[in-house]
Amino acid sequence: MKKRAADYKPMSLFLDAMPAVSGNSVNGLGETEYRAPSPFFWHPPARQTHGELQEVVVNYHRRSAEMRAVFTPAADRGPDPVEISEVVVNKSAEQLTEMIKTFVLDNEGDLIGITPMRPEYVYEGYKVEHKNVIIIGVSMDYDKLKQAPASFENPAAGVEVGKQYNRAARVSRRLYNFISKQGYVAKAWAGPYASGLSMMPAAIAAGLGELGKHGSLINQQYGSSFRLSAVTTDMPLKYDQPADFGAEDFCLVCQVCTNLCPPEAISNDKQMVRGVEKWYVDFDKCIPYFGETLACGICVAVCPWSKPGTAPRLAEKMLRRRVRKAEKAEPTALSTSVKIK
Ligand code: SF4
Ligand code: SF4
Repeated sequence: MKKRAADYKPMSLFLDAMPAVSGNSVNGLGETEYRAPSPFFWHPPARQTHGELQEVVVNYHRRSAEMRAVFTPAADRGPDPVEISEVVVNKSAEQLTEMIKTFVLDNEGDLIGITPMRPEYVYEGYKVEHKNVIIIGVSMDYDKLKQAPASFENPAAGVEVGKQYNRAARVSRRLYNFISKQGYVAKAWAGPYASGLSMMPAAIAAGLGELGKHGSLINQQYGSSFRLSAVTTDMPLKYDQPADFGAEDFCLVCQVCTNLCPPEAISNDKQMVRGVEKWYVDFDKCIPYFGETLACGICVAVCPWSKPGTAPRLAEKMLRRRVRKAEKAEPTALSTSVKIK
């Protein structure tokens, strides 16, 4: 069971490994100017300020045999790369988009969205020169997720995270090979070590969800019960649009994750982060609990959108509410022009 905030004391193992610099400062909390994100957790230790802490967290999780069995390079994370075909397939962007979307959904993927590459998707010091980002989502087993927080006695929720990262890796590597066979350059990106590509903002732009108060995406089908991987490529593709189904409005009045996060890392107010006002989770408060509980996951498990079958209903409700509000403001014009998508 989750510890209540009042009962929770961070383990010294993690506190002792925290560097002098706050993770929130590294993330740009309070900064009003745009800048690229700094390499942070899930980057090579030598390239970041929190490398030692990352090692301590990873090694602690590896004390669980079940966690070791899924968080391992020996897990099935997809095929080795194939050579790029010398012949470029002669198809339009529409046809190629249709092909890759069908391929992903036929190859263990549950969600796919495409967006143009932007500088804010690339961590400082890295280069990703491809024009397009394909974001892939794979759903999590909610029955496992809802057992969060994981422990050495019951690591189910943490193990499920590893399993789905591996599935997401398989989809991205298969897609990488598929694109290579069409004659286009590509690169597969899979977590938890995602390297130079910051997937979250690209996933928002690609329509995979809205940012929730808990700092994770909320998707209109799976809520927050899914994981991401990506492929970047120069293949010409048609773009998707960001989703807007009312999750953000919902978070403005919901406090479930805020109240149930044991270290009280989730704020009820948006904050300025590298020039953008958004929901932000306090890294320094979250990480010791994340470490101790084999990847925690309480906030995504308790989010009402994550319960199977709930997200589509909530999205429809939020959109209806929006239409009613708009009609109240301008009854004549809007009653004929606003439609629920
Ligand atoms: S993952 Fe972090 S933010 Fe989410 S509930 Fe756990 S400690 Fe809180
Ligand atoms: S639990 Fe509530 S406030 Fe937190 S992310 Fe989900 S909907 Fe938003």
